[in-house]
Amino acid sequence: VYNFSAGPSMLPLDVLKKAQEEMLDMGGSGQSVMEMSHRSGEYQAIIDKAEATFREIMNIPDNYKVLFLQGGASTQFAMVPMNLGNKSKVADYVTTGQWAKKALAEAKRYITANEIASSADKTFSYLPDVDKSMLTPGADYVHITYNNTIYGTHYNTLPDFGDATIVTDMSSCILSEEVDFNKFGLVYAGAQKNMGPAGVTVVVVRDDLIGNAMDITPTMLNYETHAKNGSMFNTPPTYAIYICGLVYEWIKDMGGVKVMHEKNVEKAKILYDFLDNSKMFRGTVVPKDRSLMNVPFVTDSDELNAKFVSESKAQGFVNLKGHRTVGGMRASIYNAMPIEGVKALVDFMTKFEKENS
Ligand code: PLP
Repeated sequence: VYNFSAGPSMLPLDVLKKAQEEMLDMGGSGQSVMEMSHRSGEYQAIIDKAEATFREIMNIPDNYKVLFLQGGASTQFAMVPMNLGNKSKVADYVTTGQWAKKALAEAKRYITANEIASSADKTFSYLPDVDKSMLTPGADYVHITYNNTIYGTHYNTLPDFGDATIVTDMSSCILSEEVDFNKFGLVYAGAQKNMGPAGVTVVVVRDDLIGNAMDITPTMLNYETHAKNGSMFNTPPTYAIYICGLVYEWIKDMGGVKVMHEKNVEKAKILYDFLDNSKMFRGTVVPKDRSLMNVPFVTDSDELNAKFVSESKAQGFVNLKGHRTVGGMRASIYNAMPIEGVKALVDFMTKFEKENS
């Protein structure tokens, strides 16, 4: 089947096959990666390679740490204010969806978190204009959600926040496009969409932002704990990190993140072009803020939406039902979705439109 789930989502077939091959005996060790001590040389080589390949394909500058953490992206909603919000105890947040709202609500438990803009007035179907003039003077950082998984918006241009420290949630777009990390203080991403299985969250954080956590910060929620211990303070999610490493190598073999991005542009264009020309289906996001990864769309009738979801499922296009707050459908087309999957979906939509008009 073609799996359009927003997450956990499809993994590249080649990665799954490689994991299958190595399942019982990793590199002649006689053990599965799952059974290896995280303190063993064999496992150290796996995590080191994963980090090195991630750094290489994402071009991470040397003055940034890459951390493999647990607790999902949701734990970052607390870790960010506890670690970065300890100077002025003030930060700014842009509310562009459910995840941004949750990040803001969590930050408010520890610091003064100001909502400087929101697109809630139109069901988060656009990104509000924001710039440095809207920031609170002296705030420790400004937080944005780079790609909004539920609503299908994405910062196609980074707002001009001047010298402010920008923190961003890239859970649903990491590895889908090149990123200039120098523009960010901290980037976090749960793995389970574009990177690997659920259970690991990658944090890329500039060195000078580590070591300033609030006294109340639990040891496990302090970036310094993990930075000082190479993500091995305690038992890391060893198998999830191994699979992420295979995904990074797969991307490298495909030609790197630049090539991945070109493919993603091509795939998304097929779907958006269809939506823009259809008389039955339409995209819900303003064109300039459209995401390459998550494409929500609707018809004018709830009945037709339900019929579409059920008939598409029967044809092998699974997990197309939209989020309950948007309704309709959502096609998540992450790196692992082949172009054939998008073409087949559009063919099916064309047929459905003909049969139901
Ligand atoms: N941020 C974004 C943009 C997401 O899409 C999600 C989950 O879908 C989360 C955060 C929450 O991630 P987790 O379930 O890893 O805590």
